[in-house]
Amino acid sequence: TTATMDLKQHIRGIPDFPKPGILFYDISTLMRDADAWQVAMGRMTRAVAPWAPDMLAAIESRGFLTAAPLASRLGCGLVMLRKPGKLPGATVSHEYDLEYGSDTLHIQADAIRPGQRVVVMDDLLATGGTLAASVALLRKVGANVVGAATLIEIRALGGRDRLDIPVESLVSYD
Ligand code: IMP
Repeated sequence: TTATMDLKQHIRGIPDFPKPGILFYDISTLMRDADAWQVAMGRMTRAVAPWAPDMLAAIESRGFLTAAPLASRLGCGLVMLRKPGKLPGATVSHEYDLEYGSDTLHIQADAIRPGQRVVVMDDLLATGGTLAASVALLRKVGANVVGAATLIEIRALGGRDRLDIPVESLVSYD
């Protein structure tokens, strides 16, 4: 039934993707199953609603998939955090380090009104680098970042310890 559904049974771990030695957790199978996806979004709604966000910030690209249905359920706004060259108009950016090299996220400069309560969303929390960079970017444009939410969390990588905001995840792995 809905209350007891084990979402893990709808998530695949695919070995050696995108590189040898990496186990990639794939949410495609979760989204493909209408009941499982409905249950996941229901649980996410209950987890995020207490933060009373004005806006969800969705990280490209799988964050878009989790944040858009949630914004609609919560009745709040939605703003995209995107890779370079994707957003029209004036943007603010934040560059962050990866294991090899660096990456940059952009937000439209007028997306957030100062002090708005923002929850940042992605599909998966691993080292926390992506969410930490997103929080830093959101603060540059004056957001009050009140939480982060993901479908999946890989606990052993300690991602939540890198963040100074509360984190909700629906499914976790060691
Ligand atoms: P972090 O920055 O190390 O926390 O990695 C999280 C980011 O990498 C998120 O944007 C995820 O979409 C992506 N990611 C890392 N590992 C996986 C995985 O196993 N499945 C899906 N996405 C992943």
